[in-house]
Amino acid sequence: MALVVQKFGGTSVADPSKIQAAAAKAIARHQAGDQVVVVVSAMGHQTDILVDLAKAITDRPSAREMDMLLSTGEQVSVALFAMAVQAAGHKAVSLTGAQIGIRTDSTHTKARIRSISTDHVKALLDSGAIVIAAGFQGIDQHGNITTLGRGGSDTTAVALAAVLDADLCEIYTDVDGVYTTDPRVLPDARRLGTISYDEMLELASLGAGVMHSRSIEFAKKFGVKVVVRSSFKDVPGTLILAADQAVKRPVSGVALAKDEARITLEGAPDQPGSSHALFSALAESGIAVDMIVQNVGRAGRADISFTVPEDDLSDALERTGRVARAIGAEGVSHDRMVAKVSVVGVGMEAEEGVAGRMFSALSAEKINVHMITTSEIKISALVGRGDGPAAVQAVHRAFGLHDAGSEPFDATTGGSLPKSTALDVVRRLEGMEDLAIEDCLLDSSQALVVFTDLPDTPGVAADVFQDVGNQGLLVDMIVQSHPRQGRAELSFTVPAESRDRALAAARAIAAARGATVADVPHVAKLSITGVGIRSHAGVADRLFKPLSDAGVNIDLVSTSEVRLNVIVAAEHGARCIEVLRRAFGLEA
Ligand code: ASP
Ligand code: MG
Repeated sequence: MALVVQKFGGTSVADPSKIQAAAAKAIARHQAGDQVVVVVSAMGHQTDILVDLAKAITDRPSAREMDMLLSTGEQVSVALFAMAVQAAGHKAVSLTGAQIGIRTDSTHTKARIRSISTDHVKALLDSGAIVIAAGFQGIDQHGNITTLGRGGSDTTAVALAAVLDADLCEIYTDVDGVYTTDPRVLPDARRLGTISYDEMLELASLGAGVMHSRSIEFAKKFGVKVVVRSSFKDVPGTLILAADQAVKRPVSGVALAKDEARITLEGAPDQPGSSHALFSALAESGIAVDMIVQNVGRAGRADISFTVPEDDLSDALERTGRVARAIGAEGVSHDRMVAKVSVVGVGMEAEEGVAGRMFSALSAEKINVHMITTSEIKISALVGRGDGPAAVQAVHRAFGLHDAGSEPFDATTGGSLPKSTALDVVRRLEGMEDLAIEDCLLDSSQALVVFTDLPDTPGVAADVFQDVGNQGLLVDMIVQSHPRQGRAELSFTVPAESRDRALAAARAIAAARGATVADVPHVAKLSITGVGIRSHAGVADRLFKPLSDAGVNIDLVSTSEVRLNVIVAAEHGARCIEVLRRAFGLEA
């Protein structure tokens, strides 16, 4: 007998007949001998209707009353769902978040789950009932109803699956799985049979809105096997699991984030503390910084660029302006009309030429790349907003994703998953959704190559990484900062033993382009890994502060959902790791 959590989104319970159809799926599972917990969203667009009702009363409804209001949507759908199961002759009990015992913090409208009690649900399951749980809601320590943020029912479902140690969490929705890119942007998109947690986390935050990204954080932390499938079509869907069990492709998906804005702090003093000053000011106001690009400094000055959601632009600009004056930077520039195109794949770490293929595809379309940042499993390029869709199409084709055959799998016999290694970390957390730092790593095996004065024209990054890729070199970090006065700075790291070949290739490119090349034979790469790195504001600052206190200058920075990397001078590596392990509460 297995325990299965099934989640039905709003479109899957939009009217009485759809509720009955969904109930039939739960009953079929139950009759096959499994225990079933169903998590339901509000019917159809009910949550939007409630939001509009509130707006008709006041522009500024209090967050507590919004939660009181919005939670009613799910209360309606669980009751109707339970009635549908009962009408078909089976036992069912509906429960609100409070009745289950889903405890959250008190951040109304975007509360985080702290703990979930399982006794009540387990007793009901053992009595033979199908338990119908209201998604998206919880209760704080004072008994106030809270909600988890729009789309939060996914998070309820995966969190329940985690605490109940469920064998499978099925997400029923109106799409039939996770696609190589948004099929509304690109009809060529293909459904993936499997995808790893890390890839899904990156994609969810990069603009591919299939699932609430916090739900994937839960899945990864607790090793929950998740399948996304259609409520309406009988197709296998997509299985989300640990990287060693998913198919490893250099690129699994392409994502487009259309609503980003870029800010550059120009000519900041290239000394310890500049990044810290900037990112602590941004963290204070709760602004989630996305791409952070800082390149090797020149003449004692460095530019630090980053992107924020467009809605946060004016707030972020004001704060950056204040920091610029305080630390004596040269100025601040920004661009509202940008978009971020990213490729994600766990296999890219071990494959040469991925960057070259991506940038050649963009170059062939004459798309200029403003900024580049990478992590172990993603490459992101900032382009003009108007170029976004064409960029996605070009890159998607370049990696042959349009003819990725669908990969069949059997979700029920996929074997049991080894529980995430993060479990130890999770045990130390106060709340289930707290930031979980897993490790702090030092990699001293890389060399750094830096181009300065590259012309800011389409095709430059393509040339560089094609040539480097042709040499069979594995490129790790890539950082291209925002160009100034028509000139860009581009850095990348390679294994130290291939430094000579990388440098020779780089010199040839630089000579042809009127640029200069410098290199550092050995650098130290420091990485913080974990879950929630980007979704918890201020992690970057927690990294920069101890380094600044220790008087260490940062050469390059790159960020992702699951990792934050910085490059510092080789001689500081060992000391920095100690400092960081202490700062993040890891044993030395
Ligand atoms: N009903 C909520 C919303 O529309 C939660 C959810 O659907 O997951 O955001
Ligand atoms: Mg919804």
